Amino acid sequence: MKDKAMSREYEVVVCGGGPGGVAAAIAAARLGARTCLIERYGHLGGLATGGLVILIPHLSGGTQLQEVKGICWEVIEYLDKMGGALHPLQEELGKDDVETVNKWEHYFSVVVEGRVRMSVYTDPEALKYVLQELLKESGVDLILHSLIVDVLTEGDRISAVITYSKSGRQVIKGEIFVDATGDGDVMAAAGEDFVTEWDPSNRSSTVALVFRLGNVDTEEFFKYKRSNFNTYAQLMEELRQKVGFRALPMPSWRKDVVWVNNWMAGIDPLDVMDLTRAETEIRKASVVIYEFLKANVPGFQRSFILDTAPQLGIRGSRRLIGRYVLTKEDIYKGEKFPDTVAVFPPIEHNVSEQYPYVYFPLRALLPRKTRNLIVAGRCFSSDGWFNDLYNLITHCFCMGQAAGTAAALAVDRKQDLQEVDIGALRASLLNQGVFLGE
Ligand SMILES: Cc1cc2nc3c(=O)[nH]c(=O)nc-3n(C[C@H](O)[C@H](O)[C@H](O)COP(=O)(O)OP(=O)(O)OC[C@H]3O[C@@H](n4cnc5c(N)ncnc54)[C@H](O)[C@@H]3O)c2cc1C
Repeated sequence: MKDKAMSREYEVVVCGGGPGGVAAAIAAARLGARTCLIERYGHLGGLATGGLVILIPHLSGGTQLQEVKGICWEVIEYLDKMGGALHPLQEELGKDDVETVNKWEHYFSVVVEGRVRMSVYTDPEALKYVLQELLKESGVDLILHSLIVDVLTEGDRISAVITYSKSGRQVIKGEIFVDATGDGDVMAAAGEDFVTEWDPSNRSSTVALVFRLGNVDTEEFFKYKRSNFNTYAQLMEELRQKVGFRALPMPSWRKDVVWVNNWMAGIDPLDVMDLTRAETEIRKASVVIYEFLKANVPGFQRSFILDTAPQLGIRGSRRLIGRYVLTKEDIYKGEKFPDTVAVFPPIEHNVSEQYPYVYFPLRALLPRKTRNLIVAGRCFSSDGWFNDLYNLITHCFCMGQAAGTAAALAVDRKQDLQEVDIGALRASLLNQGVFLGE
């Protein structure tokens, strides 16, 4: 194909439009950096929309305090205005009384060890709209339908990414690059070291093709589950044996829609034939799962397959080996790094009474070689155990906000990312309403 010559130049080039990329682009543009976001598909949100992953969990950790705010919460407040989110009220956070717990008991990640957390069920179509509007309001240039296929480098810096689209090959130049492709495509192309191994017991070693069922009576489903807990568990085990992997219906932001999450093992997310196998085998199984639910579980009798995710659900692929590698031990140490840029309530309640939070240092987003590259999202530098727990949408939004802020500061001060003043970076994040554990 003949290339339509296009060479654009930006200060910050964000690669990938999932939660990590969108937050990075918004943060960088709001701080005045000329920013673009490049996305291979025609919509924003990554797995949170295209993957039909419609749960943004653990914005709070079981107390009355909601720790995660910033761009992640801004998105949810925007969704609320559109009626595109379902979550507990602020005054319900931390509650453990029977009435409140019963209200939320079927909503995975809302009631954790008997207490209510801020976990949000979203409408993926509304989320696509909200992310697009927030990018536009922030002044980000959006380049959709463009797959990043390579990088151009000069010494230890990236000078441009190469995209491929219906316009042919194009060159997008920049000063700072954010790899938010989820799979770490840019860092890999730049020659950074990474790992791809996952322990088979990690959730992130599996892939999914999420699908949704419409016209479900979730009240009837919940009632059945509550009074037939063991029978339901046996049915789900029977279904697992029938299709060869676990599949579970999960509630959504609407009472008549469920999303069916699933976990297929043995797929290499960087092998196109494995991706093809996962897509086709899970699609085939989705009909079996649907018919099984319809025949056996009250509430599904009049349901239908509403849609399957346009994007295969990759839970984990490349992980950067960066300037700091977060490990399982870091979860339990509660170490406050001097360069902490994101802080989260633990996924498991009370991992440590003494250290109630999990800390992310900037170094876990910085590669070892390339001086003008930062990662944001699930490819952050970590072992499989840490990544498995803290690669959720909430965490990716927050990593993105930190990465975009660091990128804008580097541009403003004409510095490499490794030289960014940590005090100024943290001050800017606090100013944006980000919780840093204080
Ligand atoms: C089935 C499933 C269930 C999950 N359940 C939950 C859950 O309940 N709650 C939760 O919070 N998290 C859940 N997760 C995890 C969560 O969805 C992801 O970890 C999170 O979305 C990662 O965000 P990200 O921005 O790093 O990457 P992604 O969401 O993967 O976004 C990356 C973006 O980059 C684009 N891109 C990739 N490569 C290129 C390229 N070469 N050129 C241009 N664009 C590119 C992609 O199209 C995509 O838009 C689940 C994941 C899966 C798969």
